[in-house]
Amino acid sequence: MKHYDVVVVGGGHAGVEAADASARMGAATALISLKRDGIGVMSCNPAIGGLGKGHLVREVDAFDGIMARAGDMAGIQYRLLNRRKGPAVQGPRIQADRALYREAVQTLLSQRQGLDIIEGEAVSFGIEGDRITGVELADGSFLQARAVILTSGTFLNGVIHVGPERSTGGRVGDPASECLAAMLREIAPGRGRLKTGTPPRLDGRTIAWDKLEVQEGDEEPMMLSFLNDRPQVRQIACGITHTNERTHQIVRDNLSLSAMYGGHIEGVGPRYCPSIEDKIVRFSEKDSHQVFLEPEGLNDHTVYPNGISTSLPAHVQEAYVRSIAGLEEVQILQAGYAIEYDYFDPCGLSRGLQVNALKGLFFAGQINGTTGYEEAAAQGILAGMNAVRYARGEGEIVLQRSDSYIGVMVDDLVTRGVTEPYRMFTSRAEYRLTLRVDNADQRLTPLGIELGLVGEDRALAFAEKMARLEAGKAVMSDQGFSPRELETVGISVSKDGVRRTALEVMAFPDVTRSQIETLVPAVSEISAADFLQLHSQSLYAAYEERQRAQVEIMRREEGQIIPAEFDYEMVSGLSNELKLKLQRARPESLAQASRIEGMTPAAIALIHIRIKMLA
Ligand code: FAD
Repeated sequence: MKHYDVVVVGGGHAGVEAADASARMGAATALISLKRDGIGVMSCNPAIGGLGKGHLVREVDAFDGIMARAGDMAGIQYRLLNRRKGPAVQGPRIQADRALYREAVQTLLSQRQGLDIIEGEAVSFGIEGDRITGVELADGSFLQARAVILTSGTFLNGVIHVGPERSTGGRVGDPASECLAAMLREIAPGRGRLKTGTPPRLDGRTIAWDKLEVQEGDEEPMMLSFLNDRPQVRQIACGITHTNERTHQIVRDNLSLSAMYGGHIEGVGPRYCPSIEDKIVRFSEKDSHQVFLEPEGLNDHTVYPNGISTSLPAHVQEAYVRSIAGLEEVQILQAGYAIEYDYFDPCGLSRGLQVNALKGLFFAGQINGTTGYEEAAAQGILAGMNAVRYARGEGEIVLQRSDSYIGVMVDDLVTRGVTEPYRMFTSRAEYRLTLRVDNADQRLTPLGIELGLVGEDRALAFAEKMARLEAGKAVMSDQGFSPRELETVGISVSKDGVRRTALEVMAFPDVTRSQIETLVPAVSEISAADFLQLHSQSLYAAYEERQRAQVEIMRREEGQIIPAEFDYEMVSGLSNELKLKLQRARPESLAQASRIEGMTPAAIALIHIRIKMLA
């Protein structure tokens, strides 16, 4: 019988990060997956990142995780979303070559010392008293483990729907995980059903590309990983087309045949990733929806039509797809489908993703009610580090809402649970001005180094970068300039006689790099990437200061008791929605109040001020 510190079940995005993190920390680790070749498969869209999701990818990268590096090895188009808005809400996104991504993940894992990859099906867990002892495989073998991380994605009791037809499966081409699902029902409370869907895949050779709008990638692409500075493979363009009134009519006429609308699915779907049926019912006033035609690879004719996922029967899919401009002659390679699967209420987890009901068992990824590769990867890395710490008898690592999007997601999951598949948005993070993609390494890499999670190469690259940024900051804050001196290079500020440093003025609207270089010639030696980083820090310096103060107050005042008769109507600045929720919940302390859905640190601060006024 083999003994491991940590056994990870599942080779999806959560599983690979969990297994690699565990092995990076020096734990003897095994990764079990149904198919060795299926490790790192992207079940749905061939894209990584985006708004909020890009932040998670950068945070995984800051801990030396796999997703960003594999993404850069496979990125065939780079786009920074929200480029015109401030750096805090920009999100890097790549379109990936699906085969290259899977290959990259498998290559990176194969280079990891201390990690065994085992092809097999986990069917049961070994349990002694209140703790887990290992994993039993379908072939009868047993892997002993101090900690187990389950990342079984959409596979638990998975049911695939194409119109009224249903079959069991974890995704197309893969079996569902039924034995494990049956066992989990006994040990993990809070089982529910969720669903998600995927569009039909198209043969790119049958698309009339010349009729379509073309979408190129960025000219100056932002890499996913902090370790990379340029794309590693050939870049491609995508196409854009639109649904039309005829498309909508075909969908409307066949709604009763849709698995989702025909009453065949009990699970709840992702509101923010609506199917074409959803779009047409929920946004009936719109007569057109955009469809992005995304090639799935450099040597692959398959095209992913982003925006038209469906659970209609195959013949209806063909009819509505062919009603779209440019797709009149298109051949469908694989029909779209919906999948329904078990998840477990994440309120049954600790903040380190350990199952409260069974010591040593951790859950990460879609099993916790989330959707998306990035959300899964981010949970995987947290579960990986905590499983190792549990195996070593060390305390749990908890990430805070104020230090990371991972902290925001886990806090949302374990305190509020989910009512629909959870996906990340920048709006979920109350500290989003300071939780940026550009500073994810500065927020998290030091912790990763301390935990033994970050390899030598990254630690060195990080130290060098920090030294360069410090030097750049010193150069730009060495000397102050009067309003008149600033005026001579075309920077106008109020004539208040205050001397300002180049570091301060670089963030003023319309100030250019060349103006800064004229003020401080040594700035010309700072690289473009470092300059951008210093600019972003300067832009948000005031917010960072304010946030630090707010977080400090929060930590100090969480134990503050709220008087039983406290009147929330009298708290000025509090939204009506929050007043209502607070009146209904009547929390006893600020700590309890802070866990109410939708509560923000700013709202807590307002309540706190009011309590102090009354005291
Ligand atoms: P997965 O990537 O599903 O990986 C699960 C792994 O567990 C697999 O390797 C499997 O082999 C393994 N496994 C399962 N059971 C066992 C067992 N008993 N023993 C051993 N190994 C096991 N996300 C979006 O963001 N947007 C979308 O529009 C979207 N649409 C989707 C549509 C479909 C049809 C599907 C299937 C998924 C979709 N997703 C979408 C979700 C996305 O694929 C997942 O969120 C993500 O892959 C979850 O990662 P994971 O690691 O939790 O699980």
